[in-house]
Amino acid sequence: MRARSVGAVYDRPRYLIYRMPLLLLLILMQFLFSGCHNNVTSPENTDPEPGVPLTLATERARSIEGLSYDLSFTLAADPAEPLSGRETIRFATKDLSRPLVLDFTPGADYLKSISVGGRPSRYRLVKDHIIIPKEEIASEDNTIEITFRAGDASLNRNPDFMYTLFVPARAHLAFPCFDQPNLKARFALELDAPSNWQAVANGAETFHETSGDRVRIRYAETQPIPTYLFAFAAGKFQVETAERDGRWYRMFHRETDAKKVERNKKAVFDLHASSLEWLEKYTGIPYRFGKFDFVLIPSFQFGGMEHPGSIFYNAASILLEESATQNQMLNRATTIAHETSHMWFGDLVTMQWFNDVWMKEVFANFIAAKIVNPAFPNVNHDLRFLVSHYPAAYSVDRTAGTHPIRQELANLDEAGSLYGAIIYEKAPIVMRQLERILGPDKLQDGLRLYLKQFQFGNATWLDLIKILDERTDLDLTAWSHAWVEEAGRPATRTSIEGDRVSFIQSDPQEGRSLRWTQRMDVLIGTSTAFTPVPLEIQSERAELKIPAGVSKPDAQRKRDSAQPQLWILPTGGGLAYGDFTLDDSTRAFLLQHLPELKDPLTRGAAWVTLWEEVMDRRVPASSFIDLSMHALPREDTEQNVQLVLSYVSDAFWTFLSESQRREIAPQFEQILRSGIDRSNSSSMKATYFSAFRSTVTTPEGIAFLDRVWRKQEKIPGLMLAEPDEAAMALDLAVRSVPAASAILEEQRGRFMNPDRKARFEFVMPALSDRQETRDAWFENLRDLKNRRREPWVLEGLQYLHHPLRAAQSEKYIRPSLDLLVEIQRTGDIFFPTRWMNATLGGHNTRSAADVVRTFLNDHKNYPIRLRRIILQAADELFRAAS
Ligand SMILES: [Zn+2]
Repeated sequence: MRARSVGAVYDRPRYLIYRMPLLLLLILMQFLFSGCHNNVTSPENTDPEPGVPLTLATERARSIEGLSYDLSFTLAADPAEPLSGRETIRFATKDLSRPLVLDFTPGADYLKSISVGGRPSRYRLVKDHIIIPKEEIASEDNTIEITFRAGDASLNRNPDFMYTLFVPARAHLAFPCFDQPNLKARFALELDAPSNWQAVANGAETFHETSGDRVRIRYAETQPIPTYLFAFAAGKFQVETAERDGRWYRMFHRETDAKKVERNKKAVFDLHASSLEWLEKYTGIPYRFGKFDFVLIPSFQFGGMEHPGSIFYNAASILLEESATQNQMLNRATTIAHETSHMWFGDLVTMQWFNDVWMKEVFANFIAAKIVNPAFPNVNHDLRFLVSHYPAAYSVDRTAGTHPIRQELANLDEAGSLYGAIIYEKAPIVMRQLERILGPDKLQDGLRLYLKQFQFGNATWLDLIKILDERTDLDLTAWSHAWVEEAGRPATRTSIEGDRVSFIQSDPQEGRSLRWTQRMDVLIGTSTAFTPVPLEIQSERAELKIPAGVSKPDAQRKRDSAQPQLWILPTGGGLAYGDFTLDDSTRAFLLQHLPELKDPLTRGAAWVTLWEEVMDRRVPASSFIDLSMHALPREDTEQNVQLVLSYVSDAFWTFLSESQRREIAPQFEQILRSGIDRSNSSSMKATYFSAFRSTVTTPEGIAFLDRVWRKQEKIPGLMLAEPDEAAMALDLAVRSVPAASAILEEQRGRFMNPDRKARFEFVMPALSDRQETRDAWFENLRDLKNRRREPWVLEGLQYLHHPLRAAQSEKYIRPSLDLLVEIQRTGDIFFPTRWMNATLGGHNTRSAADVVRTFLNDHKNYPIRLRRIILQAADELFRAAS
């Protein structure tokens, strides 16, 4: 699975309100979190808790064997019509001493019949479970047959299509099963669907019969897979087919722009084929899941999801616009390589439990980088790694809401909250350190052994560390403890003493005194020349001697102002991870000379390090912006332009006062516009244009944007497609231009693509210039059915809480916080984090910060994971408002 990369430069909106009566909230929380359900049927003290508790899962994994599901669903085109299902579950068990527990959330109204071994069962229902008496179960050859109505919550039903999304444990919201990653099963599937629908599942089609307006399709039984990887999609899809190296690939999509499909499809098939070939070589294990299809879904919740034989993608990240940036193309290649890597890392060998979900994600990222890099020889991959991992990892790891890579997880109903930047961005950094320690060959050997030993089964991080520990002298268990099992990052301070540089490491968390072993490439430079010096830090302190040949800041030279200045950048090689406090002279040097550094990676690392210094208030945001404006006209590396524009947009909206913004806006917009004009590549133009669109505030700038949207002015070399036009219309409207409503109305009429049009119509009221309309839009979000299309909700929330509207939207913060428990309960896994980011991202005032602090104070016993999500999302707000 891969998080969606949100393309916009300004994509961290943050805010909502509404006061749920406290008593009601308390009752709700009691209900959700107590785990005590004495009110449901006969209270046996052995009844399992709701969700999928670790205790239940462990018992089942120990006893159940030879598991298979034979499932069939009758699909209806109308999303309101019930879906009926039948299934046969077969298994053996080693435990006859207790009842058998199946997971199923929809409850009694959705269960029609259960028979065990051909006889009606005397089953009981408790919340989230079906309990089958132990007397009905045998040690061998159990057959449970169930007819049911499928729950809709994880079926993503739309008027013309539907798709399953069962990760991490949402299969039992649709049908009865053992919903845990370490009970792998073979799945057979039959679908009965409208005959004008296409359908795709994990297995190859083995039977297809049309009769009247219905079609019946059977799929081959899968290899053993966990419930979270079982999947199908059905609906009005078009299918593209291609052959690569003797293997057939199919791409299902709903794109109406035939040219766009034509323009993209060759690259998309090629990327899959080359990823697959690379992985077969690297792992020494052929692809084990038979056929290979993928489905492009509009507004899919993630960038991709790795169902074997049927990967699902977010359509927008695969079918790129002509204006696609270099970054979008790299992201696409990375997403495809990431999902393909999961066929081995996650699908072939699966984590025992979702606390190790990060493992499959880190390997998919790590491998994806290895696959993608050679295909983009013109890209500086070390810089790309830096830019795509460090800022995002720091954005969580610097906050009071951070957490270890490996977390405890008592129940899968909380699994969604494990995902985030620590798994997706910090863990790959840690993995790269591991590769540094072991060397690439030993790591590959260890991974091959691990995949072979546990194939079609499950394993933990500790199983892998055990295999790898045998291949190094370093104490990997201690290393893993600091980096993987504990939260936060080392604080490191550099200082120059004579001809030596010292690095002092400390633990920012009180009372812990953790030490992180890491290898870094320290850059020691004078003027714009530098020498890289490798350093390993293991304890509180490490020292380096300034190499001969590097000028030293002796007394004579200090007096001579023309003398080149000595600087030390511990992060300069793009490796070191942590909160680095630069020595004063290096900081002063960078604030003046950063743009003159010749190496793009050094510049990128310096930007990332300076931003952390802004966060810790060692560098004022205004100095950072001044430096950016000075640097952008001479920065020619797109990765760095994107990095700087993203920081500077954040600084502009979050850390400047309105008067500071007014002061710099004319010059800033001029720099962005000349960036658009000057750029040679359309992707660089698009990067500048997107930054301009999201930060423009002057009347001249807004008038220019208006002319571009009206197509009265063309930007030479920049293609603007439908999504770009929609974004411009929204950005004009949120600036309350006089014609705002007319612009939105006209934009709505321009859409050719029905999915995009529906999304736009959903978002429109959030941009209304009438407060009542915005209030009503927000109020509607209380109703689950209005939150089903999460990307739409998030886009609307971002505009609702746009910094220009922050004063009017502050009142929505508290009710949004009040809804968070329900958001987690009813939404997909990234939704709580994104909900909070969209809610708080536009705010920077003390009063907004107080709303969040008051909420946290009012809820001392709030679920810890949700508290962390709030603290993460509020971090910049707290810093800006302090
Ligand atoms: Zn993934």
